[in-house]
Amino acid sequence: MAAVGERPDSATMLPVMLDVRDRACLVVGGGEVGRRKALALLDAGARVTVVDPDPIAALAALADARRLRLERRAYRPGEGSRYRLVYAATDDHETNRRVAADAEGAGVWANVADEPELCTFHVPARVRRGALQVAVASNGEAPFAVRRLRQLLEHRLAGDWAAWIAAAARFRTRVRALAIAPEERERLFDNFFAATVAPQALSARVPAAGEEAAWIAGAAAPAGATAGRGFVSLVGAGPGDPGLLTLRARQRLLAAEAVVYDRLAEPVLPPDLPESVELHPVGKEAGHHPVPQGEINALLVRLGREGKRVVRLKGGDPYVFGRGGEEAGELQRAGIPFEVVPGVTAGIAVPACAGIPVTSRDEAVRVTLVTAHESARADGSFVHWDQLAHDPHATIVAYMAVSSLANVSANLIAGGMDPQCPAAMIERGSTSAQRVVCAPIAELPAAAARAEIRPPALLVVGPTVRHAATLGCFAHRPLFGRRLAVVAPAAGLREALEEAGAEVVEVPRPLSPASRIVLRALPLTGCVLRDGDEAEALAAEPAASGARAVAWCLGTGTAARARALGWARVVELDTTAGWAALAAAVGRDDEADSDR
Ligand code: SAH
Repeated sequence: MAAVGERPDSATMLPVMLDVRDRACLVVGGGEVGRRKALALLDAGARVTVVDPDPIAALAALADARRLRLERRAYRPGEGSRYRLVYAATDDHETNRRVAADAEGAGVWANVADEPELCTFHVPARVRRGALQVAVASNGEAPFAVRRLRQLLEHRLAGDWAAWIAAAARFRTRVRALAIAPEERERLFDNFFAATVAPQALSARVPAAGEEAAWIAGAAAPAGATAGRGFVSLVGAGPGDPGLLTLRARQRLLAAEAVVYDRLAEPVLPPDLPESVELHPVGKEAGHHPVPQGEINALLVRLGREGKRVVRLKGGDPYVFGRGGEEAGELQRAGIPFEVVPGVTAGIAVPACAGIPVTSRDEAVRVTLVTAHESARADGSFVHWDQLAHDPHATIVAYMAVSSLANVSANLIAGGMDPQCPAAMIERGSTSAQRVVCAPIAELPAAAARAEIRPPALLVVGPTVRHAATLGCFAHRPLFGRRLAVVAPAAGLREALEEAGAEVVEVPRPLSPASRIVLRALPLTGCVLRDGDEAEALAAEPAASGARAVAWCLGTGTAARARALGWARVVELDTTAGWAALAAAVGRDDEADSDR
């Protein structure tokens, strides 16, 4: 058996919950620390003896109230061996050591306050909610970190967890009384958990009696009756900036069993999506429809029939030029329950990111969201460009505008629009790849062609477009255009990079399937690597270690590792100056880097 304090580095302590009810436990030391230990033991139902020649009054009061036994004397050698659990909390190292040695000799677990090397057990920090206890520990190596984490959890665990755990215990008793198969039992427990716990908010509620009854009645129903539990959420992913995903969208994604997603939605998939989630790319790019709409509809229906929680993730808002209405209709006809989680549509957000307010009191009192794609219809467009051309106090936002731009421009001018009317094409708005080209509507097709604007891009026409020059602050920040991968957890670093204008992809280690999709969704300009292990994790992903990506490395060792792992461009950064200085260094060095 290893001696006290000789735990091999690789060994972590075993967490256990001890039942000390009616068991004899000793606290040596009757000061404030001893009192706290005694109270914790009393709370757990132990028979407590405190030994101290001169205990504090609070302990004397507990003894007077017959809650514990108090021996007003010094510790007697050998005494510790008669107890189940011993705490030493004196300020005399010799006594503490004696207590620990007696305990160890007799096979009794001992904890010595502030002397971790003498302890055979540590007491975790804990968050309590009734019978529920979350324990936090660090093998005694970083108690300060443990305390802060405990406080964080204390705040984050919202709602009525104490009542929830009591309800869960009651529910378990009821379910165990049913004569059902173990899988069915687990399904009921799943129901209970899914319906009562909000994973993002870390909050819990007690289910109503009716809800519990319904789950239990469901379990008693004949086999097959459980089909149809499936549920499809048609979720808007916003314009591409992951920060513009709604809270509900993220909740649905993290609770999903299957995600069916478009190309436009790839950058906003949560990299921490659990590995167990089925991923179904049905990517649509302008001009290409790799998975025909009929097949997408059929896939949604099939996944729903399999009883899965499905997220259909679509760029922007699902009902704005997204065929979300068709998918909803199909689900409705198939009898599969569904919902819509609206998203931030590109037509409003993308102009904003380019400095263009789509309405303005004195300039534009109407916005038209229109598809430019229509103008290519052989049977004649539904869009009456000539009517739109006549309103000088309006903004026109045209989706899918790249291939038909010349056509739309000509139609508007032929319809009577001033050829000098301000207009813009915005590619990949809201993301690190955003590009904006502004020109009068007559000249925009040529300007966009010169700039090689590619889908996805929006056309914006109207008087407020002229504000792009002054309000387009999005692109002015020093790290704008940089898309950087960092390994989670990256708080501090991530904020500093984002504040400087970078888009940050925070990926778990090892890389999850979702995080690989996100890394590849838009060009990555680099990785910020804090140590060799992070370099290792990202080197395996071509998108992160490819020729165009710079490895920004903290410290010489990290840089050497990145070079060894094959990064073509490695920049070493000073680790001592703090995150904000590091973000500034990434901007500076990148400018100096002429082949960017
Ligand atoms: N449902 C989406 C639109 C889908 S149609 C929404 O509400 O935004 C696809 C078109 O949306 C693209 O061709 C492009 O015109 C536009 N679009 C989507 N995201 C964009 C972005 N980040 N930047 C520019 N245009 C975008």
